[in-house]
Amino acid sequence: MSQNGFEIDFCRHCRNSLFNLKSLEDDIASTVSHSSHTAKKSHEKIKAGFSACPNACASPQIRDFGVIAFIVPELIPEKCVSCGKCHEACREKALEFKTHPEFNDRCIGCGDCMRACEHQAIKGKVRFRLLAGGRLGRHPEFAQIFMITDDPSDIKKAFESVVEISEKHGKRFSHIEGCVDLLYSMLEE
Ligand code: SF4
Ligand code: SF4
Ligand code: SF4
Repeated sequence: MSQNGFEIDFCRHCRNSLFNLKSLEDDIASTVSHSSHTAKKSHEKIKAGFSACPNACASPQIRDFGVIAFIVPELIPEKCVSCGKCHEACREKALEFKTHPEFNDRCIGCGDCMRACEHQAIKGKVRFRLLAGGRLGRHPEFAQIFMITDDPSDIKKAFESVVEISEKHGKRFSHIEGCVDLLYSMLEE
C-alpha cells in the first residue's frame, strides 16, 4: 500500500502465517485514506509494517509502526503421544522434551511445533507485538515493543494514534522527540 504520506507493507502470507491480515489491511487503508498527512520526500512518509508471524518479513522493527503476530503454545496433554516431532521442529531450543514438550522462555511464538504435531496436541492463542519508533537513515534505531495484545482492534487504535501524532506535529512519527511516550499517553486516555 503506497499513498502520498505513507509507505505501508503487509507480509505476503505463507505457510507460516498465524493470522489473516486482510481485515486489518482494510482498516489501515481506511485510516490512511482519511489522513491529512502528506510527504514531499520519502523520509517524511509514515512507514509501517505488518507481519503474520515472527519471521517479520515486512520489517516492522525499522518502521514508525509495526506489528508481529505470534502464538503462545500450549500442550493438550491427553492428545500427546510423545512422538517428539515438536522437539525436532523447534529451531529456538525453546522446547524441552522428556515424555511431553515443555516450553521455555526462548520461545518466540513461531508455531513450528504446532504445525509439526500430527495429533493437534499443541494449540496456540494468537497475540500481537506492537512496535513503534523504528527508523533507518543517519541515526538508525530499532522500534520498541510498546504493547502485547490479543485484540486486533488495539492495532487499529494504535495506528490511528501514530497518524494523529504525525499530523499534529507535521513530522513523521519516529522523527518526533518522545514519540513512543506520546503514543503511550494517547493510548492510556
Ligand atoms: S512474516 Fe511470516 S507469514 Fe508473513 S510472509 Fe514472512 S514468513 Fe510468511
Ligand atoms: S508432536 Fe505432538 S504428539 Fe508428538 S510429542 Fe509433540 S505434542 Fe506430543
Ligand atoms: S512456538 Fe516456535 S519457538 Fe516456540 S516452542 Fe514452538 S517451535 Fe519453538
